[in-house]
Amino acid sequence: MVRYVYDFTEGGRDLAGLLGGKGANLAEMTRLGLPVPPGFVVSTEACRAYLATGAEPEGMSREVSRHLAALEQSAGRRLGQPEDPLLVSVRSGARFSMPGMMETVLDIGLNDDSVQGLARVSGSARFAWDSYRRLVQMFGSTVMGVDAALFERTLATLKELRGVPDDVHLSTGDLVELVEAYKTLVRDVTGEDFPQSPAEQLQRAILAVFESWNGERARLYRRREHIPDDLGTAVTVQRMVYGNLGSDSGSGVAFTRDPATGRPGLYGDYLPNAQGEDVVAGIRNTVPLTELERLDPRSYRQLLDHMGTLERHYRDLCDIELTIERGTLWMLQTRVGKRTAEAAFAIAAELVDEGLIDDDEALARVSGEGLARLMFPRFDASRTGRPLARGLAASPGAASGAAVFDSAEAVRRAAAGEQVVLVRQETNPDDLPGMVAARAVLTSRGGKTSHAAVVARGMGKVCVCGAEELAVDTERRRLTTADGTVVEEGALLSVDGFTGDVYAGAVPPADSPVLRYLEGGRAEEDSDRVVGAVARALRHADAVRRLEVRANADTPEDAARARRFGARGIGLCRTEHMFLGDRRKLVEEMILARTDAERRHALDALLPLQRSDFTGILEAMDGLPVTIRLLDPPLHEFLPDRTELAVRIAAAEARGERPDPHDAELLDAVGRMHEENPMLGLRGVRLGLVVPGLFPLQVRAVAEAVVERTRAGGDPRAEIMVPLVGDVTELRLVREEVARVLAEVAEESGVPVRCPVGTMIELPRAALTAGRIAEEAEFFSFGTNDLTQTTWGFSRDDVEAAFFSDYLDKGIFPASPFETIDRAGVGRLVGIAVAEGRATRPDLTIGVCGEHGGDPESVHFFHTAGLDYVSCSPFRVPVARLEAGRAAL
Ligand code: ADP
Ligand code: MG
Ligand code: MG
Repeated sequence: MVRYVYDFTEGGRDLAGLLGGKGANLAEMTRLGLPVPPGFVVSTEACRAYLATGAEPEGMSREVSRHLAALEQSAGRRLGQPEDPLLVSVRSGARFSMPGMMETVLDIGLNDDSVQGLARVSGSARFAWDSYRRLVQMFGSTVMGVDAALFERTLATLKELRGVPDDVHLSTGDLVELVEAYKTLVRDVTGEDFPQSPAEQLQRAILAVFESWNGERARLYRRREHIPDDLGTAVTVQRMVYGNLGSDSGSGVAFTRDPATGRPGLYGDYLPNAQGEDVVAGIRNTVPLTELERLDPRSYRQLLDHMGTLERHYRDLCDIELTIERGTLWMLQTRVGKRTAEAAFAIAAELVDEGLIDDDEALARVSGEGLARLMFPRFDASRTGRPLARGLAASPGAASGAAVFDSAEAVRRAAAGEQVVLVRQETNPDDLPGMVAARAVLTSRGGKTSHAAVVARGMGKVCVCGAEELAVDTERRRLTTADGTVVEEGALLSVDGFTGDVYAGAVPPADSPVLRYLEGGRAEEDSDRVVGAVARALRHADAVRRLEVRANADTPEDAARARRFGARGIGLCRTEHMFLGDRRKLVEEMILARTDAERRHALDALLPLQRSDFTGILEAMDGLPVTIRLLDPPLHEFLPDRTELAVRIAAAEARGERPDPHDAELLDAVGRMHEENPMLGLRGVRLGLVVPGLFPLQVRAVAEAVVERTRAGGDPRAEIMVPLVGDVTELRLVREEVARVLAEVAEESGVPVRCPVGTMIELPRAALTAGRIAEEAEFFSFGTNDLTQTTWGFSRDDVEAAFFSDYLDKGIFPASPFETIDRAGVGRLVGIAVAEGRATRPDLTIGVCGEHGGDPESVHFFHTAGLDYVSCSPFRVPVARLEAGRAAL
């Protein structure tokens, strides 16, 4: 027999799924012996059934009546009975707290008769009519769908007419009038009278709360917080207690510690002579809760006592809603309270010191996302003002600088010591120097995994992307906002990568002691409580985690920084950038070479440059593995743009000159090498197999760097990684060549060179044939970006801006699969490759080097999948360490 209704005395916090957080915690407090007005909970199961069928499930209303009867019995009064009415509240409450997102109706049971009875027994007609007008207002808007603003307007008009600042100054007569006005409003808008039957009020309020689960606000909130849409809300029906009975009554909210900083002590607000919803609504000015000590010392002491009980019981910061009715304290809600990232770390450490929780529990209560927040500078929240625009918060942090509209200008101004914000419609690899020079990047197009977003995150640079309301005019070097405000080049902009907000002017930042500590070391740890707490959490995570954490880094500076952040090696050293800048000319030469000798010349010139890149990185990561990926992108990416070339040639011809023969040659090559789908074209291992000398050059540069470092007394641990392998034979052929070059260099130098050779697993075929590929691979590294693209058949650059937000809205995935690993699809391929790879080669080292390596949820997956390490951008290393520890709990 299904049951839909539970009395407070029957439940407990472990039933939060069924009773919602609010109901379950009310039951828990009841069991702890705290003063909770009695009541019962209609379960989420009933809600789900109602939402699925549009009708109350069979038996629910009978159960409600039965529990109501018990409530009436214990109160000695019946719901809404005329001479002395029992009143109840009907409160929403889901499994996960969604503060203020759903509906609650107070004072159910009042009508034209019982309001008189309430006036008599309470001795306060004013109170009775105040309660009645609250009911008509809440019921009218929540249940009957009258726009809440209309009630507000009626109230405001009356206050104005009477010349009073707030509703406590309205007389009883005013309130009687107000009730009439509200009832008329309800009738005018809905064509229906406010229902006088208490039973009808109760039943309709319960169903309205069910329906508020699907209200727009609630749905938006769930999407943002990743709360599933199918949980439903429970409904709590509870005897009313009255905070609006005069100056010896009131309502308040309290925290057992400061939710902003985590410091112990009593925090909260109190409002005399008010019902609870006034406190949250901010209708009147509250007083600090500590004032209660003066107003009502007995209730104050009791409250402190109850708060102590709750903290010890929940072993965590609790927040509380309370009401005092004529000197009697009632507890109306509690839950483990939300807190800032700073408070989360501080409280966890302090609770360990207080002996309430252990280090594991403390680690479970903090998060990588929280740590990331603490690492970035932020704006002083009190000084931001109204944003110019809002885009996607693509890379966290806060930075201000002069707006610039192209890469060269960014570089020029930065070199002159100016701080700049690079503004583009979207960025491409040519903008890299400007992105490096800028403090923040702002784009008007592109999603969270657009070029700008990915690169900025990798560099730990602030980025807001896809700010579509902005018209970015790079020609005229200015942007225009939706309301027509124009920002010219050089004007100051402030970019908030936490919220996506963009402000005019320079908002003062507050710097991050946590970042200073992570980069610098111990001194800070002792002087700052938050830093100390972060250090403790990380130490414990390092002690318990099984996943190793490496970094994606391709310069000595990044490698050194990653090492300070705790990376134990490099999981992905890209070699693309070693073909950019001044070296492009040599790359062009190599591509255009007609003879072996020409090619040889270009390759020979590239060799020492590459070698010195590798030497620096190997030095910074001495003693730790450095996985170097052979060239991956299609070669035409290193050639000039086709249109640009054509224009250059046409211009020369128009001037009557002969075009530069080199340009003509390049244009020809670009034409030849054009690909419709470059990401699925000639790239990765395919390049190595068809472009003579390319991979041997890179391998030789690695090997010679190893020799150099060995001779210098170092301990270089280079590993060579082949990208985009789909078949074992591809890898075998490359590997034979690698072995030949390594042997050559060893022979020439007399220094033994040993570099493990492995491959990326980033094509479904590689994952599905991993058992065979492992015959030739000493390690695997999952390239989850490409693996996601090729598994879904998504071209990341095309799909994100085009339709990902639709896909998220339609619930096709809860988060972009480029941000959080798609466990069911991509994850399954990972599982197959791990199992079959290890079956062939039990000591196969397996890691991941895609963007997912720094994503908390994905880190948990990789732990479960049995990987050896995750590799992520240097700034994500502490986050990954923490999450790898949490995954191991
Ligand atoms: P929310 O989930 O939006 O916080 P609640 O269900 O907690 O909504 O209700 C809002 C306020 O109404 C509470 O803060 C409380 O002060 C008041 N309230 C709810 N139930 C009662 C009750 N039985 N007696 C007195 N006040 C109540
Ligand atoms: Mg509440
Ligand atoms: Mg790849």
